[in-house]
Amino acid sequence: MAFYSESVAALIEKFSSLPGVGKKSAQRVAFYLLGQSSEEVEAFAETILNAKRNLCFCKVCQNMSDKEICDVCANPSRDPGVICVVEDPRDVVSIERSLEFHGRYHVLHGVISPSRNIRPDDIRLKELVARIDGSVREVIVATNLTVEGETTAMYIAKLLAPLGVTVSRIAHGLPVGGDIIYADEITLAKALAGRTVIS
Ligand code: ZN
Repeated sequence: MAFYSESVAALIEKFSSLPGVGKKSAQRVAFYLLGQSSEEVEAFAETILNAKRNLCFCKVCQNMSDKEICDVCANPSRDPGVICVVEDPRDVVSIERSLEFHGRYHVLHGVISPSRNIRPDDIRLKELVARIDGSVREVIVATNLTVEGETTAMYIAKLLAPLGVTVSRIAHGLPVGGDIIYADEITLAKALAGRTVIS
């Protein structure tokens, strides 16, 4: 016996495919939405579609944006001489929350991982190298403190060494094996302040 109509079951199924959403939560959200007016549900769906349609990547830092140049890159009060390299757009949000960093970012969209067959060309390293001109003094590598994050940091240090820029690595104020997105603001602020030069 089917508990729900086919379309309701399909809706619950879709919600439960989202990260961190179990069957129970999916059911709750689905029934909540079905209890809303058609206008409200349409507005909700439209918001999702708009976010997806407008999504692009900043031409400079590769972060998710809905403009060609994101707000951080376009902000003249951010120091263009310091670039913080992160794995994921969510890391930018975490570091921004620490209020400790006033430079600009570069989002790699991944890390080098021989075991998962992710090579240097598969992440946005070329774009990083292209940004290193005379105006950049320091590149802070804030990839996660995992084996892959460390491998990527070492690769970046070697890659940028001939370009005469200081490459530093965030300090181990962060738990080893930990992800930047789960770190609290104080830990992140300390990790940034205690970074060490690696090249
Ligand atoms: Zn940008």
